[in-house]
Amino acid sequence: MKRITLHTAFIVALMASFSNFVLSQSFEESGGGYCALKKQQMNYPPPLPMDANTPAHTFNVLKYSLHISLMNNYDPPYPQSYQAGLDIKIRVDSALGSIKLNAVNRSLQIDQVGLAGVSFTHQNDTVTINLDKTYQPGDTVDVSIGYQHLDVEDSTFYAGDSFVFTDCEPQRARRWFPCWDSPADKAQLEVWAKVPPDVKLGSNGALVDSAFTGDTLTYHWRSDNPIATYLMVLTSKKNYNLDVYYWVRPSDNALIPFRFYYNTIDHIYIEQAADSALKMCDWYSKWYGEYPFVKNGFAAAGKEFPWGGMENQTLTTVCKGCWWEGLISHEFAHQWFGDLISPGTWADIWLNEGFASWSEGFWLESYGGYAAYKEKIDKDAKYYLEHNPGWPVYNPQWAVDVPANDTLFNGAITYTKASCIIHQFRYIVGDSLFFKAIYNYATDTTDFKYKNVVTKDFIDKMSEETGQDMHWYFDPWLDQANHPVYFNSYNFVQMQDSSWEVKFTAKQTQTNAPFFPMKLNVYIVFDDLSDTTLYFMNRKNDEDFSWEFDKKPAYFEFDPTNEIVLKKASLIFSTDEKKLQGSFMFNVSPNPAKNNVTLHYTLPKGGPVSIQLFDVTGREIRTLFSGLQNKGKQVLDYQINDLRSGIYFITLDTDGSKAVKKMVVRH
Ligand SMILES: [Zn+2]
Repeated sequence: MKRITLHTAFIVALMASFSNFVLSQSFEESGGGYCALKKQQMNYPPPLPMDANTPAHTFNVLKYSLHISLMNNYDPPYPQSYQAGLDIKIRVDSALGSIKLNAVNRSLQIDQVGLAGVSFTHQNDTVTINLDKTYQPGDTVDVSIGYQHLDVEDSTFYAGDSFVFTDCEPQRARRWFPCWDSPADKAQLEVWAKVPPDVKLGSNGALVDSAFTGDTLTYHWRSDNPIATYLMVLTSKKNYNLDVYYWVRPSDNALIPFRFYYNTIDHIYIEQAADSALKMCDWYSKWYGEYPFVKNGFAAAGKEFPWGGMENQTLTTVCKGCWWEGLISHEFAHQWFGDLISPGTWADIWLNEGFASWSEGFWLESYGGYAAYKEKIDKDAKYYLEHNPGWPVYNPQWAVDVPANDTLFNGAITYTKASCIIHQFRYIVGDSLFFKAIYNYATDTTDFKYKNVVTKDFIDKMSEETGQDMHWYFDPWLDQANHPVYFNSYNFVQMQDSSWEVKFTAKQTQTNAPFFPMKLNVYIVFDDLSDTTLYFMNRKNDEDFSWEFDKKPAYFEFDPTNEIVLKKASLIFSTDEKKLQGSFMFNVSPNPAKNNVTLHYTLPKGGPVSIQLFDVTGREIRTLFSGLQNKGKQVLDYQINDLRSGIYFITLDTDGSKAVKKMVVRH
C-alpha cells in the first residue's frame, strides 16, 4: 500500500461481502429442525389452554402415582378412552382448604376424589378439590382422583394402529391426567399400566416389574427423580420390538439400560443408533456431568407423531424410522438441558432448545473436531439470518402467556439463534471457562440439577463461573430482536517515527435493534507475512480503536473465522481520496477459488513487478510473476488446481509499494 494518512473525507475503497457462509445443508435437516417442525405441527385444534399460571400456586406436587388401564386401546376401533386412578402427594406452601389442578374438560371426566379430598368441581379446564380440613404450610396431603379419558382425539393421548402413546409439550399433560401443569413443579412419578399380554409399554424412570395376572400384563415404572409434567410419558405398542443395551456408568460401574423400542421395519437402524447413543453418553457425561438418570431410552411412535422427537425424561419419543444421529444427539442432550434442568417458565424455553441444538454441533466435534462443530453452528446462523421473524430469543411475557407453538418453537429463534448465542458465549470466554461454567451449571445440585432454571439465574451462574458479569452480553443479545449489521472501516497510517498505526472503527447500522456490545476480533497480516489477531471489547457504537506496530500492515480482516455468527458485516478501507489515487487496486477472484484464479490490479506507474504466493505459515510456494509492467490495468490468470485446500497469501510488490491478498482454496 502507498503511504496514507487519515483524513476526514472517507471513501469506500474495498468492500467485503457479507460474512455469512453459503452452506449446502439446512437447519431443516438437523435434529433441531425436526424437533422444531414436530413441535410446531402440534398446533392444530383444539387450542391450548393459555392459563399456565392460573390457578395460583399454593402447593408443590411431590409425586403422581397413576394406575391406568389400557386393555381396550390397542385394537380397532382404537377407542381413546381409558379408566385411571391418580394419587397426588402435595406439600402445602400456604394454608389451604382446597387445591386446583389443570384438567381439560374436553378430554377428562373426573368421577370421584378421595383420601384428603372430599368433594370437587370440574369446569373451565380446572378441577377444584375441597379438602377435609385446612392444611398448614409444610403439611403433606394425599389426594386421590378417579377419572377417565373420554373417547376424543386431543393431540395428546394417541391410540391407533396398535400404538398407545402420549405427547405433552408444552401444556398438554393436563389432557391425559389431572396435574399442576407447570414446568416449574417437577414431581416424582410412579405408573402402573395394565395392558394386553402382547404389548410392550415404556415410561419414565426404572422398570420395577412387569407381571401377568391372567391375561393382563401390568407394567410398573417408577421415577424417583422429579419430572416436569410435560416430560411424563407412556409409549407402547403391540408386538413392539425392544432391544436393551447397557452403558457402564463410570462412577460406580453400574449398568444403565438403554431401551430401544422400535418397529420391525427399523431393525436395521437400531444397532447403529445404540452405538451412537452410548458414545454420546460418554461425551455428554464428560462435559455436562455424568448421565443423571437410572435408564435411558428411545421409542419410535406411530403415524400421529410425524416429525422429529420429544425428549421425554429417560424415554425420548422419535418419529417412525427417525433413528438418525442428528436427531438422537439433539434429543439426548435434552436429558441434561430440559429434563435434568427444566425451564422455570416457557419464557426460558431457549435454554432447552438452544443447548440441544448447540449440542448437535458439539457431538460432531467429538469426532470431527472444531471444524465439524463450527460447520453446524454456521448452518444454524445461516438459518436464523434467512428466517429471522424479528422477535427476541427471550420474551418475559411468555412466562405468563404461552404463545402459539409456531412462535414458542420457532426454528430461527428458539433453536438456531439460541444455539448461536451459546456459541458466541463460548467464543467470548474461551473454551476452558466455557466448559467449566457449563459443567458446574449442569452438576449444581443446590440450584439447578434435578430442578429448574430461569434465564436470569442462568446468566448469574455463568457470571459466577467465569468470574465476569455476563449480563453485558446475554441481556442485549437475548432481549433485543435481530442482530448487529456492521459497517466497519479500517486504515493503515505511517507514523513520524516510521512505525505504523492500524485504525479501526466498529459501527453498527441496524435500525431494527439497539446497539449490541460484543468482544470483537481483527486479523492483521504484515508485509513480512507475519500476522496477529487482536481481541477487544466494543461497548458503544461508532467506537474507534487503534494499535501501533513497528512493521508495515498489509492486510486486515474483521472476524475472519466468523465467530460472531449472529451478524452481517461489511468492512471498508477508509482513507483520503487524493492519496489513494497514488495507490493501486489489487483483487483476487474468485475467492474462495478452486481451479483457476484471476488477479486484477492497476499500477499507478510502470516498473518492476513481483507477485508471489505464500501458504498460511508464510512459506513461499512460488513466484507467479516477475518482470516489468506498464502503468494501468493488469490481468493475470493462474491455474491453482495443484494447491491443497487452505488459506494462502498473494503478495504484489511494485516500485515502493506492496499489497497482500488472502486467498482461500477450496476443492
Ligand atoms: Zn429439542
